[in-house]
Amino acid sequence: MKNDYNFEEIEKKWQGIWAEKRVFEVSEDPSRKKYYLLEMYPYPSGRIHMGHVRNYTIGDVIARQKAMTGLNVIHPIGWDALGMPAENAAIKRGIHPRTWTLENIAYMRDQLKKMGFSYDWSREVNSCQPEYYKWNQWIFLKMYERGLAFRKDSWVNWCPQCRTVLANEQVVGGGCWRCDTPVTQKKMEQWFLKITDYAEELLSGHAQLGKWPEHVLLMQKNWIGKSTGAMVNFRVPALSREIEVFTTRVDTIYGATFLVLSPEHPLVGELIAKSPKMAEQTAWIEKAVADARTRREIGDDEKEGIDTGVAAINPYTGEPVPVWIANYVLIDYGTGAIMAVPAHDQRDYDFAVKYGLAIKPVIAPAEGAEELPEEGKAFECLGVLRDSGPFTGLSCAEAMDRMGAYAEEKGFGRRSVTFRLRDWGISRQRYWGTPIPIIHCPTCGAVGVPYEDLPVELPYDVALTGAEGSPLERLESFVHATCPKCGGPARRETDTMDTFVDSSWYFFRYASPHEKNLPFRAEAADYWLPVDLYIGGVEHAILHLIYSRFFTKLLRDFGLTGISEPFPHYLAQGMVTKDGSAMSKSKGNIVDPDEILKQYGADALRMFILFASPPEKEFAWAEEGLEGCYRFLLRVWTAVNENLDLFVSGAADAPGAAGEAGDRLIRKTHQMIRKVGEDIGVRFHLNTAISSIMELYNQIRKDRDVLRESAGGREALRKSLETMVLLLAPFCPHVAEELWERSGHAGLLVHAAWPSFDPEMAAEEIATIVVQVNGKLRDRFDVPRDLPETELEKAALALPKIQAALGGRAARKVVCVKNKLVSIVV
Ligand SMILES: [Zn+2]
Ligand SMILES: [Zn+2]
Repeated sequence: MKNDYNFEEIEKKWQGIWAEKRVFEVSEDPSRKKYYLLEMYPYPSGRIHMGHVRNYTIGDVIARQKAMTGLNVIHPIGWDALGMPAENAAIKRGIHPRTWTLENIAYMRDQLKKMGFSYDWSREVNSCQPEYYKWNQWIFLKMYERGLAFRKDSWVNWCPQCRTVLANEQVVGGGCWRCDTPVTQKKMEQWFLKITDYAEELLSGHAQLGKWPEHVLLMQKNWIGKSTGAMVNFRVPALSREIEVFTTRVDTIYGATFLVLSPEHPLVGELIAKSPKMAEQTAWIEKAVADARTRREIGDDEKEGIDTGVAAINPYTGEPVPVWIANYVLIDYGTGAIMAVPAHDQRDYDFAVKYGLAIKPVIAPAEGAEELPEEGKAFECLGVLRDSGPFTGLSCAEAMDRMGAYAEEKGFGRRSVTFRLRDWGISRQRYWGTPIPIIHCPTCGAVGVPYEDLPVELPYDVALTGAEGSPLERLESFVHATCPKCGGPARRETDTMDTFVDSSWYFFRYASPHEKNLPFRAEAADYWLPVDLYIGGVEHAILHLIYSRFFTKLLRDFGLTGISEPFPHYLAQGMVTKDGSAMSKSKGNIVDPDEILKQYGADALRMFILFASPPEKEFAWAEEGLEGCYRFLLRVWTAVNENLDLFVSGAADAPGAAGEAGDRLIRKTHQMIRKVGEDIGVRFHLNTAISSIMELYNQIRKDRDVLRESAGGREALRKSLETMVLLLAPFCPHVAEELWERSGHAGLLVHAAWPSFDPEMAAEEIATIVVQVNGKLRDRFDVPRDLPETELEKAALALPKIQAALGGRAARKVVCVKNKLVSIVV
């Protein structure tokens, strides 16, 4: 086989032509149905990696195929360009974050172009440009006006390594999500976005996300953490105070033998103020605060607490219960105080046993219940109330409702819902982020920067030393400001925004990326949004994917969009691994896409990265597989080039019958059109789509010599070769485009229509045969399609049901209809 498949030349040629003709630039066209395909925009860290290659190739294949089916496909790309690595690079190497970022973008853009991705580059967005982040500020101000952005003093997660605040979502197993350094706690004034106002809707919106992976929805659900229950106030006579408790099991309140407060609870100081062991207890509390906030979960053996010596009154029983402070109660959950019911809650049980506190059962198993109380364990099941005053005998479900109502009646509590979700702390004390558009005036307080003064630009000249605190704080020219309200001297806010703000709405910006008066033009967004298919890593399940849903609802409430959910369909692609683990610098198992491009070309890489496993599964890198894909392309290249004569016009006039091999190939071609179309467009099984193209190739190869002998055969061969090129186009667009041109087609392959199939011809390889005996249906069975009649008869007569129906009689007459029926007369 002569290797004249010069991928380097071919890929360069077609990338040039596509760019020159701007074939992937699209515009709104209400007469056409749109399809918005989006991959998560990359952070410009320097170079694209194989994870990017996989993510974007999956998207590109689907985008190209959808376009061939006639949809108006928008497929944009941009850069998530603000954030810490740029700043760290600046500190380390003395290069300005802006320079570092823009150089990386230039390099990566070039890499993406070399992959042949069908991006509409006219819509490229870059979040570090003032014309982009201006709109972060605009959205922030709209939120500030509505009380949805606010400032409060609070404990924050602090990464000593990155020297910045982290959102709860960015603390992973007690460490910084970026650098793994153990997170500590600090009390600071912070800006928050009120995502909790949307907690209920973020949860109920899941009903519209049927096309999301279930585990992602579950992660979000747990993160939002809705609990239905009751708030109950326990009076503390010694302090003339009340402790508000949230419980999901108010039905067990007669068994509450103590209260437990989080070490961070605001009443803690007062509770221990008169304690003889105050000094010791204060030290314990300080340590517990630091520990409990870094580790969100406390292990079984580590539950610790102190007795305040103060009592609170259970409003249902009127009896006093001791008040404890313990490390297993988090201030983040409910009110930061719980009633402990050791008989019916395992954590409370363990704690009661450890400290010798009373355990009082108040729930008995319902009649006929399968689960019964066990020695040494809390009975956590629902059942029937006992020893619960007027509520004794009620079922737990009924009691929850009645006891909640009772609390409301008596004014010591109410039925209530709480969420685990906290407001989103967005203040970051770093340089390379969007400045928060606020001016602090000694007279007027925090005043929003007037809209006409946006953007508040990041000053270019700044000393990045890595010292604690924001670099902007030390820049007098930036800090010095005039109050927009009173004109007095004021101080500019120096915190910048969490970069997750930037990525929470960028998909709207693509709809009208050059819009000057608003974040985006409503009509453009109305046409293009929502995103029809969003593809990206599952590591974004709770950060980016919750924030984006939140921002979409906000923008809707600002009247900018009619949609509530940005991504009705989310595809989480699996990791790329090599030698059993994820590619990473530390493992030394990185494969550089640039090297592969040089050696095999983009088409082979695109094919290989999709071929070995379905998109949502892990993909194990193996050089042999890549080699195999390359060789396959070479075979396709040769097969089409060897038969170019068939494509000369007039060669296939009046072809006549195709013969047996021709018929077989025609059927195979129709079958593969159907299979590949469904695999790409419906199931996203890109790996099996590629196998089907290979199957078609094998059939062509097997019969090509026979086929070339008759005019009908040649036409079948021509048609199937042409189809193979069309099917290959989304995967390996360069070589397909080249073969399309060589086989005499006018016009670009990217503008060609996806082939259609004849359903009859594309029918399954299997035929279901109906068997009748004396005109009565007796059985059905499956056979390979086109099984000869003699074989059909034999198979039918051997069926046990038919033998039974014949009862030993010989068949008088057997009629067979290929692929359909066997009729037996006795
Ligand atoms: Zn860190
Ligand atoms: Zn003022």
